[in-house]
Amino acid sequence: MASRTLAVYQKDGTLRNLATAVLSCHPITTLPDDDRSFFKAAADTDYIVATRETIFHPQGGGQPSDTGSIKSSSPGSDIQFDVKSVRKLPKDRILHQGTFTSPAESSSGIFSEGQTIVQAIDDEKRNFHSRLHTAGHLLGLAVRQLAESSIPELGRVTEGKAQHTPGSAAVEYSGLIAGEHKKAIQDQANELVKQGLPVNVFWWDEKTTRSQCTAVPAEMAVPEEGVFRVVEVEGVGSYPCGGTHLPSTRDVGGIVVKKISRSKGVSRISYDITDAA
Ligand SMILES: [Zn+2]
Repeated sequence: MASRTLAVYQKDGTLRNLATAVLSCHPITTLPDDDRSFFKAAADTDYIVATRETIFHPQGGGQPSDTGSIKSSSPGSDIQFDVKSVRKLPKDRILHQGTFTSPAESSSGIFSEGQTIVQAIDDEKRNFHSRLHTAGHLLGLAVRQLAESSIPELGRVTEGKAQHTPGSAAVEYSGLIAGEHKKAIQDQANELVKQGLPVNVFWWDEKTTRSQCTAVPAEMAVPEEGVFRVVEVEGVGSYPCGGTHLPSTRDVGGIVVKKISRSKGVSRISYDITDAA
């Protein structure tokens, strides 16, 4: 339905506004079933808008969707679209789901193809998601550092999925992590916060990604462009990752390990962030 959208949030995570243009705008009820299945919580009255570029991070990689608005920048037009959620579909299609606050019944109340618009994302929400997400990487790196220093048994676990949803953030490991290591892991992660290390983004080919990254998922899909986005905590470690991060580890604030649970051979480190370490 829509053409591919340039994922500007992956190039510059600091942007909160972006002027671009509409690729397509349709009632959600006209989406093919496969595409509609990405928007389970949507109402039939919602619309789907695709734009040439986007600063909205779609739900994925454990990070929730951004929310915000898309407003017409055409002279004399006050059309506004409230973005409730964003999904990335196959073939680099990024779709914004939401409602027009302008009357959608009139044809002038919705976007037309090629219309110039300005995107704005919810700044507070993005910052919080980026902090939670970066904290997840720091916990992963803290476990590795401890494995190489004071707690060698942590060298036997393998990093798995991560979830950066507010209130239920966690990093998972295959293998067992004893609950008694909770404080050591928390302290080590907060040490990385205090060091104020730069968080860098690189674009690497598959060979470099597999050989240089600290951990690579067992099944890593090769992007259509063949280039992987990699996030590095400078001097500590790197992961392939498509999410949004912070410029410095210090910006995380503080990390609290809530608990370490173990089930069916998988350990789960649940965590939260606080304003200061
Ligand atoms: Zn990441």
